[in-house]
Amino acid sequence: MKEDILHNLEIINERIKKACEKAGRSPDEVRLLLATKTVSAEHIKTALERGQTLIAENKVQELKEKYEDLKSTPHENHFIGHLQTNKIKDILKYEVACVQSLDRLDLAEKLHQRLLSEGKTIDVLIQVNTSAEESKFGVHPDEALELTRKVSELHTLKIKGLMTIGLFSAETEQVRPCFKILKNLQQEIIGQNIPNVEMKELSMGMSGDLETAIEEGSTIVRVGTAVFGARVYPDSFYWNEGV
Ligand SMILES: *Cc1c(COP(=O)(O)O)cnc(C)c1O
Repeated sequence: MKEDILHNLEIINERIKKACEKAGRSPDEVRLLLATKTVSAEHIKTALERGQTLIAENKVQELKEKYEDLKSTPHENHFIGHLQTNKIKDILKYEVACVQSLDRLDLAEKLHQRLLSEGKTIDVLIQVNTSAEESKFGVHPDEALELTRKVSELHTLKIKGLMTIGLFSAETEQVRPCFKILKNLQQEIIGQNIPNVEMKELSMGMSGDLETAIEEGSTIVRVGTAVFGARVYPDSFYWNEGV
């Protein structure tokens, strides 16, 4: 298993490099984020010790379970799952650096309140639902600018860009429009010059479609399966409400 992870990491980093070359971009512009849902702390450590630095969980419960084991290995933790407001304090306790899944104002306001009381700030990405699939979270593209504006007024939240989960499809050409929507939104928001808003990051692309995402401007690709192998649970377990 350890060998598999190390081998897969090499393949992924090579795929990222090739995709960047093809798109005329520098590989420094794209970070590999390891999506570690269902992956043991031991296997995550294998990747961290091989020079990976960025990991993310979908569920607060898993963040909590692995926290102690990973603490001593340097890394940056993001959160990419649906965040319930009653779990906000855990996000801060377990040192999440960036919530990539900020998709509604009430969550932003509650996060802000908690950060104020702890005297902290946090990076956030606005999650956009670019595929119009009901099962996925994220603000509707038409409402993303308005949400960004409102979140920008909450000074403890540092907006760094946008995140999306593309259309779940084996056909990479079918997910491309999702990535284009996110890129266009980024440009539109940049054009508004909103104070306290940075729009450098586009978190898009996963195991199956990272090349397409890089062509369309991704700065963070989120990869799970292609590094750690297939998961036992279907993704709907992580992407749907109430589970
Ligand atoms: C699981 C997950 C990924 C990674 O998906 P893979 O297909 O396993 O690479 C990326 N983003 C989010 C939000 C996820 O939940």
